[in-house]
Amino acid sequence: MASNEELFKKIIAHAKEYGYVFPSSEIYDGLSAVYDYGPFGVELKNNIKEYWWKSMVQYRDDIVGLDTAIFMHPTVWKASGHVDAFNDPMIDNKDSKKRYRADVLVEDFILKIEDKIEKEVNKAAKRFGETFDEKMFRETNPRVQENLKKIDDIKQRFYPALERDDLVDVKLLIEELGIVCPISGSRNWTDVRQFNLMFSTQMGSVNEDANAIYLRPETAQGIFVNFLNVQKSARMKIPFGIAQIGKAFRNEIVARQFLFRMREFEQMEMQFFVRPGEEMKWYQYWKEERMKWHLSLGIPAEKYRFHDHDKLAHYANAASDIEFEFPIGFKELEGIHSRTDFDLGAHQEFSGKKLQYFDHEVNESYIPYVVETSIGLDRTFLAVLSNSYREEKLDDGSERVVLGIPAQLAPIKVAILPLIKKDGLPEKAGELMNSLKYDYRCFYEEKDTIGRRYRRMDALGTPYCITIDHQTLEDNMVTIRDRDTMLQERISISEVQGVLREKVGR
Ligand code: ATP
Repeated sequence: MASNEELFKKIIAHAKEYGYVFPSSEIYDGLSAVYDYGPFGVELKNNIKEYWWKSMVQYRDDIVGLDTAIFMHPTVWKASGHVDAFNDPMIDNKDSKKRYRADVLVEDFILKIEDKIEKEVNKAAKRFGETFDEKMFRETNPRVQENLKKIDDIKQRFYPALERDDLVDVKLLIEELGIVCPISGSRNWTDVRQFNLMFSTQMGSVNEDANAIYLRPETAQGIFVNFLNVQKSARMKIPFGIAQIGKAFRNEIVARQFLFRMREFEQMEMQFFVRPGEEMKWYQYWKEERMKWHLSLGIPAEKYRFHDHDKLAHYANAASDIEFEFPIGFKELEGIHSRTDFDLGAHQEFSGKKLQYFDHEVNESYIPYVVETSIGLDRTFLAVLSNSYREEKLDDGSERVVLGIPAQLAPIKVAILPLIKKDGLPEKAGELMNSLKYDYRCFYEEKDTIGRRYRRMDALGTPYCITIDHQTLEDNMVTIRDRDTMLQERISISEVQGVLREKVGR
């Protein structure tokens, strides 16, 4: 069994070999934390987008879509708080010269203590067997209690220090906890400094500071500044949502986890506008709704968990992450945030334009409250890809690599394979391809033995292969092969559409 790190490396190599993801500008040795999607990657990415868009926009009558520009007026980012507060505290280790996020160092330290607690509990569960009372054990075991207190003490000190921007105390805490650099093993740390994550550039010919333009670090602000345009033009009534898929840019300090932490990435965000006071109800609603969406992708439920935030961003009064078990551990995949009226209120103040909604039911104007669901497209891609990757030993002793991507998301739905390259088989296969390609993304291949072609399609994640042989010319029957079970079935060409519709959907 490969270790998680090895597995992660294999997935990255597989993604490159099979045309899913390439490092950006690879012939120039790449650009750190920037990636390109290949011929099959772009299909998977588009399918994920479409799946999200359909469930969030098309199938609902209370959400509409939007596509706003990446460049926005610089004051947007002043109002949103990003100029002043979109910072990560960074710290360097003087020996390894590696840079870390100070908050991640402390949070990883807390995770290690939590791990210790879980080990203690599991050990006791084994020892006591059926009579084990986990709740009581957690509440009374001295070692568990001591570790819980340790975590509590760290949190009590750490989050307020971040809140106060007391970076001296954050450094002191790192030193007192004895946190070492994972590379050098030393405690030789620099001071903690704030680092703004926004990329900036200039617009036009003026290059004074005042005209700095930012590459948006989130798509949400494009939605907020268009709130009234959308509400009026689409005649929306509260509660309603606005959804957008688009690029976002962050100059991440630690960016070395493949698609998990990129400097240019894509978000699928939805801002749901509600009556003040009703935000908690909608926050709960969206937590559940979004988890259901994830589970509908066909990935096992145990791969997901919620993580409710202790430390809230400057705009939020409640926040939770949906975490996914990536090969690098459980990490954030989507954030659900109750953003209050912070954003609309701030834009109203900075722009001097009213951003209010007149609610006929209560006969009152107000700034709506907002519940946001924000999911990374690339992280979802990585979740699907890493969950799909399997190495299998077959009964005949051979091995195969399979991407078990759910059929509705798979880049190629069906491969059309003439058994050999002559005798009229390619022409027959071409006819079938032409009859299917308007409904399904198909792939045609005539090179290599049929066994090799099946393996290649398995590794690409193609759920079905259809083989045309000499018999087909006589009876119009083809072989359809299932990627996961490898079972083959003989069906008539006239049945192919119906079978695919049933298996893949449309
Ligand atoms: P993290 O704590 O991992 O940095 P975040 O809390 O800053 O993430 P949000 O601002 O809530 O992330 O962004 C919403 C979503 O956008 C995240 O859940 C994630 O899926 C995605 N995302 C954020 N930053 C990146 C990144 N650098 N690369 C890829 N996806 C990202």
